[in-house]
Amino acid sequence: MFDLCVVGAGLIGSAASKYASRGSSVCLIGPDEPTKEERLTSSPRDIYGAHYDEGRIYRQSTSDPVWAKLAQKAIPRYSEIERESGVDFATEVGCLSVGSRGGNYITALKEVVQKDGIQAETLSGTEVCSKFPFLSIPNMDEAVFESHFAGYISPRRLIKAQITIAKKNGCQHIQEAVRSVSRVLHDDSNKCEVVMEVVTDSGRKVLAKKVLLCTGAFTAFRKLLGTEVSPDTKLFGLSVTKLEISEEDAVKIKAMPSILYFGEGGADWTKDYPPDPRAPVVFYMLPPIRYPDGKYYIKLGHDPVPRMFHTGPQMKQWFVQGPDPRLIRQMANMITSVVKGVKVLSYHGDSCVVDVAPSNRPYIDRVHNQLGVAIAGNGYAAKSSDEIGRLAVELLMKDQWDIDIPQNLFHVQLKSGCGNPTSRL
Ligand SMILES: Cc1cc2nc3c(=O)[nH]c(=O)nc-3n(C[C@H](O)[C@H](O)[C@H](O)COP(=O)(O)OP(=O)(O)OC[C@H]3O[C@@H](n4cnc5c(N)ncnc54)[C@H](O)[C@@H]3O)c2cc1C
Repeated sequence: MFDLCVVGAGLIGSAASKYASRGSSVCLIGPDEPTKEERLTSSPRDIYGAHYDEGRIYRQSTSDPVWAKLAQKAIPRYSEIERESGVDFATEVGCLSVGSRGGNYITALKEVVQKDGIQAETLSGTEVCSKFPFLSIPNMDEAVFESHFAGYISPRRLIKAQITIAKKNGCQHIQEAVRSVSRVLHDDSNKCEVVMEVVTDSGRKVLAKKVLLCTGAFTAFRKLLGTEVSPDTKLFGLSVTKLEISEEDAVKIKAMPSILYFGEGGADWTKDYPPDPRAPVVFYMLPPIRYPDGKYYIKLGHDPVPRMFHTGPQMKQWFVQGPDPRLIRQMANMITSVVKGVKVLSYHGDSCVVDVAPSNRPYIDRVHNQLGVAIAGNGYAAKSSDEIGRLAVELLMKDQWDIDIPQNLFHVQLKSGCGNPTSRL
């Protein structure tokens, strides 16, 4: 019998299992990244995750002060995680957030930067272009550049680092999907107690005193919260384009930071993106990163009209089929509008799903005293996953809440099978 079973070996689950295994016996259950064959319609696999990549942006600022606080707690610990695990995952290239001068986006960001004392410089579009001569940013835009505690992380390697530490602490990792979680009466020769029973897809049973669900966008597609109960989240499909450049070009623009853009775009930028010309231009872009195939890709993401999913088969189809080829091309054109002087060797798309709560904040809560949740990353949680996992473990295992943000901002909302919100159980 384990003290805790963490379900979901993604970004939050791997962090949670590391923290819990420092003082408790822990079992982490969750499948590894799918193989190519497991992303085919013919494969029986139907559980995927949001971490099959090499680039996630991190920065201490964001226009939501709650997300900013979570990031500010997690990011300074990256170097300690790298040291303890021996696995590097963070590259501090800085992060450039750009928007229309005086617009809501850049104004809210500047407020958080000032209030939280984040080290950052405010630059005009012209100043951005002289600092990074390979970027084309509109003169009239304004940018906030964070050079410290900002850049990109590899989500794959962060998970590897967290699990390496958890295993050193004695955590057992079972690479399977979980079919059900329930409360059962356990009759040991000495005493009879109520425990949690976790059953995997292969029928393996694991008993634990408590269970923490870190199952992201797939939480609703197994019996994890009880029959016909699921978290109140919306599941959005996201598309990205990865544009291949040569190693020589990657070296030429190696000072490129991660970029977030929310504005009107440049006069000389592609008119193809966003597809609706009345919509604001919104995207995030990762600098060239070397992927496991040995090639360098610049990545751009954001769906102007994201798809919403309601069923497991819809989610699987999205992971199998990938995004619309037209959108992939439009996003590739957006990359070459912003990054100048690189030769495009190829480009391709990829798909992913994020779980978004009505509050836009994560759910870090207890459903009852033996079942916790740390889900609803809202598309922002990679950088803060270490703190989210830690908070969930403190709450479930020690009944403690030690961050200066009220816990009620993270209360989980559940809904019944017919879609009606229920109160917290
Ligand atoms: C394209 C894209 C770009 C993003 N960019 C950024 C970014 O730049 N910066 C940032 O901070 N965040 C970013 N995010 C968001 C970030 O990746 C997610 O918020 C984060 O991965 C959420 O972590 P999680 O642990 O909740 O979910 P996941 O990382 O998806 O992990 C959940 C895990 O649970 C497993 N699981 C599900 N069901 C079961 C089950 N029944 N049994 C066992 N295991 C199960 C899954 O297989 C998965 O491994 C991005 C997300 C996407 C999709």
